[in-house]
Amino acid sequence: MMKYLEAFINTIVGTLDWTWRSITFDVVWYNNYFWGLILISLIVWILEIVFPWRKNQSVFRKDFWLDIFYMFFNFFIFAIVISGFYKVLELFFLDIFGMDAKSLALIDMKKFPMWSQLLIFFIILDFVQWFTHVLLHRFNALWRFHKVHHSVKEMGFAAHLRYHWMENILYKPLKVLGVMLLGGFEPEQAYVVHFAAITIGHLNHANIKLSYGPLKYVFNNPVMHLYHHAYALPKDRFYGVNFGISLSLWDYIFKTNYIPEDNGTIELGYEGDSKMPNSFFKQLFYGFKKED
Ligand SMILES: [Zn+2]
Ligand SMILES: [Zn+2]
Repeated sequence: MMKYLEAFINTIVGTLDWTWRSITFDVVWYNNYFWGLILISLIVWILEIVFPWRKNQSVFRKDFWLDIFYMFFNFFIFAIVISGFYKVLELFFLDIFGMDAKSLALIDMKKFPMWSQLLIFFIILDFVQWFTHVLLHRFNALWRFHKVHHSVKEMGFAAHLRYHWMENILYKPLKVLGVMLLGGFEPEQAYVVHFAAITIGHLNHANIKLSYGPLKYVFNNPVMHLYHHAYALPKDRFYGVNFGISLSLWDYIFKTNYIPEDNGTIELGYEGDSKMPNSFFKQLFYGFKKED
C-alpha cells in the first residue's frame, strides 16, 4: 500500500516540478511543451489573422478565451492532477498480471533507425486515436463528453484543445496499448511527433483555407476538419464524418471522408447544442448524466 501511495505522491510532485521547470525555461527546449504550445499557438493565430478563410470572423471569435483556458487546463493542470492516478494504475496492473511494459511488444523498435521509429510511433498512435474518436461519436455514453468539443460555434485554432477532461481518460487505454505493442517505450525523439501533432491539430481548427494539395489524402487539414464539426451531417452518416486526428488517411481507407465544396461558412455544432452550459466549470461536470 505504501508503495502505491509513495508512487502517487512522487509522480504528482514530479509532474508539478517538470511543469514549473518548463515555465521557467529550466528544461531543454525540445521538451518544453509549455512554451512550445504557446509558440505554435501564436504562429497559427498570426496565420489566421493574415490569411482568414471566413473573413467576417472576429480575431477574438466566440469562446476564444474559454478555449485558451482549456488549452492550459487539458495540457498542464489536468495532467498534473491525473499523473499520480495513472502511475498507481500502471503499477497495479503490472503487479496483478506480472507483466512489464515490454510483455506485449510486437516488434523491437530499437532495431530500426530513429526516423522509422518516429514514423511507426506517429502512425500507430494516430490510428488508435482515430479509432477512439470514431467510438466517441458512435456510443452515446461517450458522445456526451465529446459534445464539449463539438459545441464550438466559431472555429479557430484554440478550439483544438477544447475538450472534456474525460476525453484524456477515454483516449488513454488504446494509446497505452499502442505504445506497449511498440515495446513499451516512446522513441527518444518522440517530441518531434508530439509537436507535429499539436501543430497539425491547431491548423485543423484554424480559420485558414488550407488542404495541402495532393497531401490532403494523407494529412488532416482545416477544410476537412471543419466538416467534422458541421451541424448538418449527410443523412447516411448520422454519427459523423472525417474522424482524422493528424492523418486523413484512415478516413479515406475506411470511407468516412466527406468534403463538400463551399465557402466554409456552414453552421457548426450539433442538434441540441444550445443546451451545452457556457461556463468552463459547468462543462467540467457535463456528460455524466444520461440526459446530457
Ligand atoms: Zn468529433
Ligand atoms: Zn475538432
